[in-house]
Amino acid sequence: MRLSRFFLPILKENPKEAEIVSHRLMLRAGMMRQEAAGIYAWLPLGFRVLKKIEQIVREEQDRAGALELLMPTLQLADLWRESGRYDAYGPEMLRIADRHKRELLYGPTNEEMITEIFRAYVKSYRNLPLNLYHIQWKFRDEQRPRFGVMRGREFLMKDAYSFDIDEAAARRAYNKMFVAYLRTFARMGLKAIPMRAETGPIGGDLSHEFIVLAETGESGVFCNSDVLNLPIPPDDVDYDGDLTPIIKQWTSVYAATEDVHDAARYESEVPADKRVNTRGIEVGQIFYFGTKYSDAMKALVAGPDGVDVPIHGGSYGVGVSRLVGAIIEACHDDAGIKWPEAVAPFTAVILNLKQGDAAVDGACEKLYGELQAKGVDVLYDDTDQRAGAKFAAADLIGIPWQILVGPKGLAEGKLEIKRRSDGSRENLSPAEVVAKIA
Ligand code: ATP
Ligand code: MG
Ligand code: MG
Ligand code: MG
Repeated sequence: MRLSRFFLPILKENPKEAEIVSHRLMLRAGMMRQEAAGIYAWLPLGFRVLKKIEQIVREEQDRAGALELLMPTLQLADLWRESGRYDAYGPEMLRIADRHKRELLYGPTNEEMITEIFRAYVKSYRNLPLNLYHIQWKFRDEQRPRFGVMRGREFLMKDAYSFDIDEAAARRAYNKMFVAYLRTFARMGLKAIPMRAETGPIGGDLSHEFIVLAETGESGVFCNSDVLNLPIPPDDVDYDGDLTPIIKQWTSVYAATEDVHDAARYESEVPADKRVNTRGIEVGQIFYFGTKYSDAMKALVAGPDGVDVPIHGGSYGVGVSRLVGAIIEACHDDAGIKWPEAVAPFTAVILNLKQGDAAVDGACEKLYGELQAKGVDVLYDDTDQRAGAKFAAADLIGIPWQILVGPKGLAEGKLEIKRRSDGSRENLSPAEVVAKIA
């Protein structure tokens, strides 16, 4: 992508409305624009990041055996009357009427709809286990939308729903999602700690929130620092095997949100020098809720003995759009964003430090072509800005590799490559640069 043809409306001034760094940087880097309170347009740079995050979430859901589908954003109110949540959900639910005065709502979550789909088709335990997910926009009319995409009203969520014949099988489904979440967040360069959590309006008795530690987070959390260094399950983890050792390892170390925090246990279990009491961002939550929806909505399947039983369910959410903000909270410095490579909008940016100089232009064009041919997502700053402005913009938008092409280096056959994450620099030949990045 040539920057001269890209749409990157960078802001020079710090936007006053932004209270936290990720919101400020997303606005300054031209990633998104607020269209109404808590409702955002995703501009090209931000949209690229959102898509990369979405794809990692998808790959790890697929790996764990979940099946992707797509449900609509609008749902019938009657469906929610069946579960009893239409009235219970309160003012967070956006209620809409169509021209026939039929009551609809913009889905804040999809337990009811997926249960309706399930019960229409699945009648036997032989078709279980089943885990269906989608990645879709949700709407919650939050009392206080704030912090940009971190607490929006319209936001992108991955939500998966598992169906099993009994509690033991449902817990296996829960464990698969637990492991998939560990892998998902780690692939994005995040440390997201599973913490015991309250089940809230989803209901049920077993739940973990996945929390990224950050001072600007909205939840208070308590944990043993050992949990920060536990190993992430490898990509060939056997989802059909016994996952309980992994779950045990992660859940035996103290980690809880303030809602379920047990001060006495914390103080007796966690040595003083390992106590971490800080704040965190909820980037995902998993629930086992048993037969709450299948009882209310009559989602029954015939068991091996031919008797109909309500299925045991779980639901598993990831805040895809919130993650964009959460990653910035975890990865930035005073100059701007430092994207982990896996979610970066571009892997590398070529900075032409003397636009119009035939040798420099030629070297940039050649490098740009070679990196593209190797499949690297590369941005080429071919604008006529001065070098200082190009450096500042590249730091702000956080591309992992900056390749500086100027007349001095070129005279010696060298380019300078700067790594955004740690600021380290190296002088390399163009061929070495390509080999390093591709
Ligand atoms: P919160 O406690 O932050 O209000 P929640 O517990 O209500 O979130 P869930 O119902 O667990 O949210 O939804 C699954 C995930 O969707 C959350 O873990 C979070 O990452 C994301 N999410 C929830 N509400 C919002 C929002 N208003 N804006 C952006 N992401 C959200
Ligand atoms: Mg909420
Ligand atoms: Mg919550
Ligand atoms: Mg939650």
